[in-house]
Amino acid sequence: MGVIESYLDRLPVGAATPRLSLGEGSTPLVPARRLLSNLDLDLHLKCEGANPTGSFKDRGMVVAVAKASEAGARAVVCASTGNTAASASAYAARAGLGAIVLTPSGAIATAKASQARVAGARVLEVRGTFDAALECCCALAAEDGFVLVNSINPDRIEGQKTVVFELLEQLGRVPDVIALPFGGGGNLVALAKGLDEAGVEARLVAGQAKERATTYASAIRISKPAHAGEVAALVAAGRVEVFSLSDEEIGEAWLALATLEGVFCEPASAAGVAALQHVPLEPASLTVCILTGHGLKDPAAVEQAPGAPTSVEASLDAILEAIG
Ligand SMILES: *Cc1c(COP(=O)(O)O)cnc(C)c1O
Repeated sequence: MGVIESYLDRLPVGAATPRLSLGEGSTPLVPARRLLSNLDLDLHLKCEGANPTGSFKDRGMVVAVAKASEAGARAVVCASTGNTAASASAYAARAGLGAIVLTPSGAIATAKASQARVAGARVLEVRGTFDAALECCCALAAEDGFVLVNSINPDRIEGQKTVVFELLEQLGRVPDVIALPFGGGGNLVALAKGLDEAGVEARLVAGQAKERATTYASAIRISKPAHAGEVAALVAAGRVEVFSLSDEEIGEAWLALATLEGVFCEPASAAGVAALQHVPLEPASLTVCILTGHGLKDPAAVEQAPGAPTSVEASLDAILEAIG
């Protein structure tokens, strides 16, 4: 049904808002019995990589693009190193709008750039940093007919908060802990808003890269989080705990998700799982890890994983020898 139709009464949409959808939301919630078994949690994985363009960004983007269309925009614009661009491009195509994507040169993962390109977005590689690209976007969005769809667009946060409503429906109770990655912080702010609106409380545990500017988890390679102020306020209020993780810790959690649970996500998505290792938790705590993006988004990361294929002769003997 999609996020807009499913949550009409909890989103800033009216009769004039297009019922845009690519079938986002309703993503699997998978119990995890082998992962983090040392912590003895009641652990579940929210597989947001199952969204139409492969990341949680679709929940917020569908609302932002629908509102841009309602406002009579000609095109949406975003600065992105990947998933925002892929999502904006797909929803703009669906809505019949243009999409302009500014990426810092060399910083976009190939698979995500392909998604934007194939959807007909105008992709411009800006010679500069992400922050420079975002500044250009803001300047462009001040011109007539262009709407910025980075997460500083409040409609993005509105759409993203729906993951909380969906989780409560799927679990049938309120989780004790929700763990997730912290890149720009839009998702953390959206989850806090969703919990508030649902009238429930849960601990939010966030994992960020220790080396923000250079981490291999490209989706959270963000030096200046756009929502830093709001996240700091949530931390001060005791609602969010942030943990800084090495690339090694993130990589281990990422591989454990795939090898122990069969869930292949982006490295960035594993930061919430890795953060849980740092939190004192009651045994049996009902815990949900939001896995933000699909593993196929970042095939380059796999090159660091063990298990490269071995070439063998086409004979049973050779195969038996190879598998030991
Ligand atoms: C955007 C993104 C993040 C970071 O989310 P924020 O809202 O910027 O904190 C994490 N993982 C993936 C896969 C993403 O696409």
